[in-house]
This record gives sequence, structure tokens and C-alpha cells, in this order.
Amino acid sequence: MGANRAYGLHTLVYVIIKKSTYQMIVSIIGRPNVGKSTLFNRIAGERISIVSNVSGTTRDRISTNTSWNDKNFILIDTGGIDKNSSEDFQNSITDQALNAIKDSDKLIFMVDGREGINPLDEEVLRLVRKNNKKAVIAINKLDLPVDEFNALDFSAINEFDSVKISAYHNRGIVDLLEKVLGKEFKNVPKNSEEIKLSIVGHPNVGKSSLFNLLTESNRSIVSNIPGTTRDSIDYSVKYDDKNIKFIDTAGLRRRGKIEQGIEKYSSIRTIKSVENADVCALVLSAEEMITAQDLHISGFIKDLMRPCIILMNKFDLVTNDQKNEIIEQIEEKFDHIPNIPILLTSALNKLNIEKIIPKAIEVYENSIKRISQKELNSCFIDAISRKQPSSKGKKTPEIFSISQYKTSPPGFKFESTNYDLIHFSYKRYLENQIRNNFDFSGCPISLRFVKAKRR
Ligand code: GDP
Ligand code: GDP
Repeated sequence: MGANRAYGLHTLVYVIIKKSTYQMIVSIIGRPNVGKSTLFNRIAGERISIVSNVSGTTRDRISTNTSWNDKNFILIDTGGIDKNSSEDFQNSITDQALNAIKDSDKLIFMVDGREGINPLDEEVLRLVRKNNKKAVIAINKLDLPVDEFNALDFSAINEFDSVKISAYHNRGIVDLLEKVLGKEFKNVPKNSEEIKLSIVGHPNVGKSSLFNLLTESNRSIVSNIPGTTRDSIDYSVKYDDKNIKFIDTAGLRRRGKIEQGIEKYSSIRTIKSVENADVCALVLSAEEMITAQDLHISGFIKDLMRPCIILMNKFDLVTNDQKNEIIEQIEEKFDHIPNIPILLTSALNKLNIEKIIPKAIEVYENSIKRISQKELNSCFIDAISRKQPSSKGKKTPEIFSISQYKTSPPGFKFESTNYDLIHFSYKRYLENQIRNNFDFSGCPISLRFVKAKRR
């Protein structure tokens, strides 16, 4: 089937392939206990406090989208080395850490300046060399200036620049970032006409099949234009006047199960893909319904506040009678992304494929929507008159105003007295009021409460 048919007659669809617009990926590597997580938290700052509250998933953040001196980059903590492993190092380094090394543009190779080089450091070094990666050595735990003089000798790894730091005491971090991000790296400016769509989901749900259908056309060319990272090719489809760019398509281009191993590190891939997306399409399979992995991925999407649609694929394997039940289940399990649009698709029978791109655009547009102050005021007055925040002791929070202070995702600011006393359930009430009045389906919104100026 040609893509033109998939989209109906009113649109011309074509596929173009171009080099990635893409953020640099920096991974912190090193043996256990050298201070990787400490450095990660130091660089990532406040963004790191994001913790998933999706039931059934607990995890540490291992990746963040951060910036320094106007340079955006993705930072990955490869803490995935099992500190308690009794096996040798080769076995204890997880696939995730190994693949973070492979996927990175630059590495921060951490060593302990007080302990000097040991066989595990040498093993990490071997991996860096083997993968032909650029690295900067961060000689850590040099907390005082005097420690720098006493730092042990790392001249055995003199092919890389080194910086003496204390992750814990915030020493040398600026020098380190300067060396890591360098002058050669420039962010590619965002093309506002372009919507970056990432298709995510666990293995075997039909991501590649859907992707192939969505990009299928006589003009699609499969060629390997080297991008900034391995296999980096971007496919774009034009829909009306919008360019939808499919990002992180390396795993999607494969057919079948040729690259089994690749799935083992899909979580870093998935995070990276979600971080870079303007909108995510989370693919589930009607064969398995909703798995813990699906909730895990939706947790990333929520934490990173990305707009999202759900594609329940392989719908050909169930009967139409099950439709309502399936939708109910999805709404219940994914209630952390309110009003999430759901499409029941079948890549096999080409069911609802033509609805995917329009739905993704709709959700994206929700995320960049600005509500007029007049409409907001009227929604606010209505909400406040129906229900007020409850008091605590003698103190009663009083909310005076609402304003939309940002988009992507939309953020609303409330000016209030005693705002720290406003209960979570009341915040949820306000969010629901906003959602009932304006269409933000599939799109996270954030609420901020600030101290009211004197009235
Ligand atoms: P990782 O296993 O490489 O992620 O290491 P962690 O970040 O968990 O740190 C291991 C230990 O080293 C922790 O007790 C940290 O508090 C400590 N540590 C990390 N950075 C520094 C530093 O700059 N100076 C000192 N003195 N201790 C540090
Ligand atoms: P991915 O791992 O998520 O990229 O999944 P694939 O696209 O490789 O599909 C995994 C398997 O599911 C393949 O055997 C596909 O032929 C099959 N598949 C994909 N979509 C559908 C569908 O809508 N219905 C059915 N019955 N099978 C599908």
C-alpha cells in the first residue's frame, strides 16, 4: 500500500531523509564508587529530583536533558555497574552501561584521585579505547586545593585531557564541562515547523511495522547517511503543512528480530528518544495488553512531561466487542497521563494507520496552546466559586489569580496566600477544571503556586 492511500487524498505524503538535528550525549563512566552519581546529580541539578510515582515502577533516573552555557546535552549516568557482583568486572558491567558507552558522543571517565589507577579503571579504559570514543578524565575526590598536589598519577591514560575535580564539593566542574562540551559543539537550532515524533514501546508490539507503514512511499529511500550517532537517520513525512520527523529510528528500521541484542538496552534508547521528542506514540499490543514495561515507559514520558498518544496495536487479534473494555483498561492504567488519546490499530490489517499522524499533531498542538487571559479568568472564577481550598488551623489559602506562564508543556501559575497549605487534592481539582475547559488531552500540564503580592 502506498502512503498516499494511508493518508487519504487530501494530503501529499513524502519521505525525506536527512542528518539528525540532535543533542550531544555525554555519559559518565567509571568503576564503582568513584563518584559518578554524585557528579551526575551535581551537573543535572534540580531536574534530577524527578521520581516516578507510577505504581509498579521504581527506578533511579539515569538520564537527563540538561544544559550548560546554552548548550543542551543529554547526560547519562552509567551507574549500571553492579557493585555487589561477585563476578569479574567484564560480567558485572551491565549491557546498559556498555551500550551507553557505544551510544555516547563523549565520555566523562571518572577515576578516584585518592586511590590512583586500578585494574578496574584499566578495564573501563579498554572499553573506551575499543569503542574509539573521545573522553575527558575526571580525577575526582580532590576536595581541597592541597589534594590536587597529592593526586595520584594518571599519566598512563595521557591520550585524554584530564581535569581535577571534586564532585561532592563542586570543584572543577566548570573546567570539566568546558572540556567535555568543547568549542566544536553547537546545538542545532530547533526548526519550529517540525514536530519530532518518537515511536516507543517494548519489543514485538509492532513499532517497526507501524513505522514502515507510516513512512512507506515510492519515494522513500533507505540509505545510511552517517549522522551524529550510529545509525542516525531521520525520516520525515509531510502532513498538510507540517513536517513530522520520526526520531531515533535506528531500532525501527530493522525488520523482524535480526538485532535481538539491541533490545537489552532499549531503556537508554527509549529515554533518549523520549527526551528528544515533541510528542511520543507509545505502542502497546492487544496480544499482551498492558505490561509493566509499558507502564515503565509511560513513567518516563510523564516524568519528562512529553505529550503522548497510545496506539493499541494488533487489534486484529481481538474482537470488536472487547473494544470498550480495552479502552477502559488503558484509561485506568494510564491515568497518570490524563485524557490520553487512544487509537486501536493493526499494522497487519492497516487499521487506523491514517489517524496516527493527525492525532500526534493534535496532541502536539495542545502542548503549545496558549489560552487567553480572559478565558482563563472565567474558568478560574468559576472553579473558585464552586470550591475553595480548605483551611489548616487558622490559616486559609486564598488564590487570587491564574496565568499561563509557559507552553510545551503548558504551565499555569496561581498567586495565593498560604500557598504551601493548598492540598494536593485541590491542585488536582484545579487541573481538572482547566482540562474540562480547554483541550489538553494527551498533554501534561504543570501548576505552580506562588506567593500573592500584597492586595
Ligand atoms: P558511583 O558508584 O561511581 O556512582 O559513586 P557515588 O557517586 O555513589 O559515590 C561513591 C562515594 O564517593 C560516595 O560516598 C560519595 O559521597 C563519595 N564521593 C563522590 N564524590 C566525591 C568527592 O568529590 N569527594 C569525596 N570526598 N567523596 C566523594
Ligand atoms: P517491534 O519489535 O515493536 O518493532 O515489532 P515488529 O514491528 O517487529 O513486529 C513484531 C511482530 O508482530 C512481527 O512478527 C509483526 O509481523 C507482528 N505484528 C506487527 N503488527 C501487527 C499487527 O497489527 N497484528 C498482528 N497480528 N501482528 C503484528
